Amino acid sequence: MDTVRWGPMLEAAGIRVTSQRLLVLDVLAAHRLPVSAQRVHAELYERGANIGLTTVYRALSSMAEAGLVHVFTYAGEAVYRLCGPAGHHHLVCRVCGLVAERQEENVVDGFRAEEVYGVCAVCENRQQSPPGTKPI
Ligand SMILES: [Zn+2]
Ligand SMILES: [Zn+2]
Repeated sequence: MDTVRWGPMLEAAGIRVTSQRLLVLDVLAAHRLPVSAQRVHAELYERGANIGLTTVYRALSSMAEAGLVHVFTYAGEAVYRLCGPAGHHHLVCRVCGLVAERQEENVVDGFRAEEVYGVCAVCENRQQSPPGTKPI
């Protein structure tokens, strides 16, 4: 497991480097989709890291507070994503929960977009009925 590169990231975000945070970041980095605390906890367990769910929650929320990790809601549950540098908004697929980062300012009628919900290309294709089938 390569957790070395996460140290400087935590330091830059102004939070203390702990082995738990490094492990949690390593799990998040392996996912394109935001993941729940339970999922992070389960994967750490699979890797043989014995970290309690409460500790995982605490690590995630401290990193979310520092802006290092972004929080989304998917299926009524808080999910976390390791995003790129600050200064972006999100395009969130409401079907699969995929998050894409957009860098440019998106101000509409005085509102600055933080999250824009839609359907990603993969889900869009999946939703279209294959040729020859009747729509329900
Ligand atoms: Zn983000
Ligand atoms: Zn999708």
